[in-house]
Amino acid sequence: MTKLQPQASHFIAGVYTEDTQGDPLPVIYPATGQVIAELHQATPAIIEQAISSAQTAQVEWAAMSGTERGRILRRAADIIRDRNQDLSVLETYDTGKPLSETLVADATSGADALEYFGGLAASLTGEHIQLGQDWVYTRREPLGVCVGIGAWNYPTQIACWKAAPALACGNAMIFKPSEVTPLGALKIAEILCQAGLPAGLFNVLQGGGSVGAAMIADARIDKVSLTGSVPTGRKVYAAAAQGLKHVTMELGGKSPLIIFEDADLENAVSGAILANFYSSGQVCSNGTRVFVQNGIKDRFLTRLTERLHDCVIGDPQDMATTFGPMTSETQLQITLDYIAKGRAEGARLIHGGNRLDQKGFYIEPTVFADVTDDMTIARDEIFGPVMAVLDFQTEDDVIARANATDFGLSAGVFTRDLTRAHRVIGQIQAGTCFINSYNDAPVEAPFGGMKLSGVGRENSKEAINHYSQLKSVYVRMGDVEAPY
Ligand code: NAD
Repeated sequence: MTKLQPQASHFIAGVYTEDTQGDPLPVIYPATGQVIAELHQATPAIIEQAISSAQTAQVEWAAMSGTERGRILRRAADIIRDRNQDLSVLETYDTGKPLSETLVADATSGADALEYFGGLAASLTGEHIQLGQDWVYTRREPLGVCVGIGAWNYPTQIACWKAAPALACGNAMIFKPSEVTPLGALKIAEILCQAGLPAGLFNVLQGGGSVGAAMIADARIDKVSLTGSVPTGRKVYAAAAQGLKHVTMELGGKSPLIIFEDADLENAVSGAILANFYSSGQVCSNGTRVFVQNGIKDRFLTRLTERLHDCVIGDPQDMATTFGPMTSETQLQITLDYIAKGRAEGARLIHGGNRLDQKGFYIEPTVFADVTDDMTIARDEIFGPVMAVLDFQTEDDVIARANATDFGLSAGVFTRDLTRAHRVIGQIQAGTCFINSYNDAPVEAPFGGMKLSGVGRENSKEAINHYSQLKSVYVRMGDVEAPY
């Protein structure tokens, strides 16, 4: 277990850095509840080192060609893929997510982002606008020093999704992982360094909200990209507004998954399982309000519960395990409280509902049927493995109910009628939608939310717009005419 203890808590200017004056930050393995590493939160001195080294490094990085920058990012992607096994084991210790998931969804997704944005780096250009003899050209310039702040559900992926476009555009990034899952981002910093990233361009700092807030308050920070909850998003957005800093906000959701009675039943059940129980339900885009049309409801619930009996809850490092513990005791308790509310408010518990009587933060995948729109479990983001199944009869009714939420991250529709699928998705207020699928997140596609679920987009060419700014330059070819 001691091998999980990193050389030091932070990674700054290309080296592991420690300041034992910082508050202790124990790292807990969710499968056992044991402390597997002891870190320290960043002190003001550490924050200062991170910001000043990033600021210095960014100037030279921005002066390099996109091709050179991209080559380093693509090299890092290759190293990540080579080391996927070790990185995935570490991610499983950090989060408790089963190795069967982390091997395919975490470091590999981070590598995709580095490869994709590494590939785009050389093609980032401005444009030429001819105005008679005169002309304007635009330059796509970096923002400067960006801060990335992560949630605890996908620590490695979040670090890479933020670092890759930031670095491709010529920025530096200081990344603060969630205090719950601090280990993975340090390895990404190590690998970027090994790939040739100049020191200071990707620094990792540990700590809670106050460390994030201290960085946002610093005038040398140009952008903040947060992945977290809506309440934190409000605070971070407000703090960034003081300095009119750029923001990307990837926040929470309570997304609808709509299953029409003509849907392929097995695919719809698979979609609902992926939309609720992957990563023990700790996925922001999860479709936790599952609207099922009356004609398919009984068959859907029967197949869903049958298939949930095949779920293997166990040691997340065992490749046979398909459902691991939750990431923290705190999140487990929040989930249990919501399950109690679901029962108290009259929802029908048809599967799970209990904490497992063993060490670690294990809870059963849980399904409530006969959920109504006003119930707490149909309104709040739970961020745990609790599916709420709601009935519906007509298309118009389900669209209105699906949109009756302040969130707008994701949505899915299962139907064999493709005209209906597009018609429905066209009316749903959500940023990331799926037809006959759920929770795919390829780097080529924009990812992000509408309404309270976020501002800006990660991934795809669109992320470039959120990590760069345009300078327009007017060039006069003739004389300047002045009135006097
Ligand atoms: P959280 O909001 O509690 O914390 C997120 C991060 O913000 C942490 O690193 C935390 O230390 C930091 N933070 C807290 N207060 C801060 C402050 N005042 N200033 C600066 N930083 C501060 O979220 P969490 O519990 O880690 O993650 C779960 C939430 O994240 C859920 O709501 C989930 O939906 C959301 N999430 C969204 C996405 C997405 O892409 N949309 C992805 C994953 C998770």
